[in-house]
Amino acid sequence: MIEISRKNLMDLFQITAGGYEPIHKFMGSGDIESVLKYSMLDTGETWTIPITLNVPEIPYIRAGETVCLHYSGSHVADMEVEEILHIDKGVYVLAIYATDSPDHPGVMDTMRESAKCITGKISRIKFPDFLNMNPDPHETKRVFRELGWRTIAAFQTRNPPHRAHEFMQRRAMETVDGLFINPVTGDLKNDDFSGTEIMKAYSYFISKYYPSWKVFLSPLMIAMRYAGPRAAVFLAQIRKNYGCTHFIVGRDMAGVGKYYDPYAAQKAIEEAGIGIELIKFQEVFFCRMCSETVDSRSCAHDEIYRTVLSMSSIRNSLKLGMFPPRQSMRRDVAEKLIEELATQKNSDIL
Ligand SMILES: [Zn+2]
Repeated sequence: MIEISRKNLMDLFQITAGGYEPIHKFMGSGDIESVLKYSMLDTGETWTIPITLNVPEIPYIRAGETVCLHYSGSHVADMEVEEILHIDKGVYVLAIYATDSPDHPGVMDTMRESAKCITGKISRIKFPDFLNMNPDPHETKRVFRELGWRTIAAFQTRNPPHRAHEFMQRRAMETVDGLFINPVTGDLKNDDFSGTEIMKAYSYFISKYYPSWKVFLSPLMIAMRYAGPRAAVFLAQIRKNYGCTHFIVGRDMAGVGKYYDPYAAQKAIEEAGIGIELIKFQEVFFCRMCSETVDSRSCAHDEIYRTVLSMSSIRNSLKLGMFPPRQSMRRDVAEKLIEELATQKNSDIL
């Protein structure tokens, strides 16, 4: 019996559900090497992020053996082990994150994980409810079809709705049939907004401000990879698998700190040629001279007139029960989040 991580469990869910098409099992050494070197699977198809099942060094596992995979003490699947391999973490982090800095969150994750991986045929799958309750690619495609949408723009986020999101989403809605708001809610990091906070705030925001028949909201259960352009291609491919034709990409998608050029993500997705059209934005901010939220391409005013949104300062204000500037977040959305954060704080104390 092997206890697997939440990240690996969510990867297994996506593999099974078709979210990681053309991947149908955890990667073996051939695919991993090819992804690291060429951003391709062994078969030549584009794929930028290794999908590995990392397992402890002990117990000793042999190829040909069937192992039982558990999460949080419950059975999730069996694997007939075909290959056991060890990742060279030094090579891995430089290829995927373009850095080996221990301060980079992706490098940190890789260093924490075991270097030993297994792959093989999966059977007897039983996912926990928190995964089963979310629509898989078959279901999202069915919903889009039933709504009569031919063009669907996916919106990637890890945050609750704010004015820059709204600016990009409204622009997209003007050109496509439907908007698929698909927040990544799989991670459980303390400095991020929780999945519940993001989903509650978005449900409220959509019902209050958007034509609900043009928007579909559902969470994406994956662990966030902070690999800049490689992660952006990964996120775009997943959305294509979920049935989207367009992908909204702002400045510095899946970036962290100053590790990546802010527009490397847009360029990487375009160059990957994965068959999803981009709706691109540059820096979106509130300009006091324009008196509205604008994209840097349509505002000629000096930087001193700009209120650039900072998610960490918004979160800090909300946690203290204070309202962020109206130019950054709508007052009523902030109110909802303050309520939600206070409820969670109280339940933490209890
Ligand atoms: Zn301006």
